[in-house]
Amino acid sequence: MKAVCWCGKGNVRVEEVPDPKILNPRDAIIRVRATAICGSDLHLYGGAIPGMQRGDILGHEFMGDVVEVGPNVENLKVGQRVVVPFAIACGKCFFCSRQLWSLCDNSNPNASTLRKLYGQSGAGLFGYSHLYGGYAGGQAEYVRVPFADVGPVPLPESIGDEQAALLADVFPTGFMAAENCQIQPGDVVAVWGCGPVGLFAIKSASWLGAERVIAIDRFEERLELARRVGASETINYENENDLQERLKESTGGRGPDACIDAVGMEAHGTSLDAWYDRIKFATYLATDRPLVLRQAIHACRKGGTVSIPGVYGGFLDKMPFGAAFAKGLRLTMGQTHVHRYIRPLIDRIEREKFDPAVIVSHRGGLDDAPDLYQVFRDKTDDCTKVILRP
Ligand code: NAD
Ligand code: ZN
Repeated sequence: MKAVCWCGKGNVRVEEVPDPKILNPRDAIIRVRATAICGSDLHLYGGAIPGMQRGDILGHEFMGDVVEVGPNVENLKVGQRVVVPFAIACGKCFFCSRQLWSLCDNSNPNASTLRKLYGQSGAGLFGYSHLYGGYAGGQAEYVRVPFADVGPVPLPESIGDEQAALLADVFPTGFMAAENCQIQPGDVVAVWGCGPVGLFAIKSASWLGAERVIAIDRFEERLELARRVGASETINYENENDLQERLKESTGGRGPDACIDAVGMEAHGTSLDAWYDRIKFATYLATDRPLVLRQAIHACRKGGTVSIPGVYGGFLDKMPFGAAFAKGLRLTMGQTHVHRYIRPLIDRIEREKFDPAVIVSHRGGLDDAPDLYQVFRDKTDDCTKVILRP
């Protein structure tokens, strides 16, 4: 089959690879109908996440048709159209039984490395480095889905293929980021980053009752989309002398009640600390560029929430932890527990008549992946989200 393979930093290629096979009784094979490129894939593309090997198949956002099931998968039938959560969960461990699906204890065969680094390992992830299990991803014609009796969700006809692919990760991720803000009536929520995750966080924050949602980015087309999905105000930070002052001013001097960092470890910036991060990152002296997280902690009102869907990988430098402590902030973060959110979000799409695919700007086949990775990374051609149809 054809698959999109990681071939080094800034280098993805479409290669012929062996078809996946059922390896365990709880596996299923899915023929991919739609798969997306994610901001998280950009961290792999940029070489920011260790544990990648040449030839690794990328992709953790996908949906498709069930073409084969192992003998212990009783809930799926061949021919069903399903969406698959990006984190792999066994459904039976301590964490799965508490619905902390992305923290499954049984799905990462390489957990020992992460245990050394982090103390414990999270779940295995599709197409996301050998640190997270080295599973082949879904930017391919076919994919093996382990624990297929737990993850895949059959789709109603009302949900299109593109909409479904967005339910594998970014839509639930934006929703969980907003839910984690424990929004109260009257709240002001500020969202850094108007990529797919930020856009769905904005939509979800307004659904969950935020009175105002302030969206921050530097790309006008993304800020325009932010307004379309529910931001009441947008800030192009490149045109702003003092973002902190602006946020303070527009919240009566208090700061936003909740700040969402939907940017993560590779934030862009031109300030002094941004340059400091960039140099340290480029010379392997730092694992992350946590500029936005610093800004969010600084901006957030006392006793407020900083919600962090943006991915961080290592040991963060110059973190204003004293400020977070002194202001009594609540920090909340992590890989999304996608399994929790797919069905409720399908209901919301139907109830609210909201089409999540409004954020999709670019479509192509697998062969277009090398070009489209570049366009999505550089945010050229007004690119906001890419869907590939194998
Ligand atoms: P994206 O690259 O499309 O969007 C990131 C946005 O941040 C861009 O629009 C960019 O212009 C903006 N940005 C960069 N620097 C900024 C700054 N200083 N201030 C404000 N905005 C800035 O990516 P995405 O798909 O939306 O993903 C966003 C983040 O969420 C990534 O870190 C990704 O890895 C992470 N993510 C996490 C999960 C999870 O489970 N927690 C799931 C999916 C994605
Ligand atoms: Zn993703």
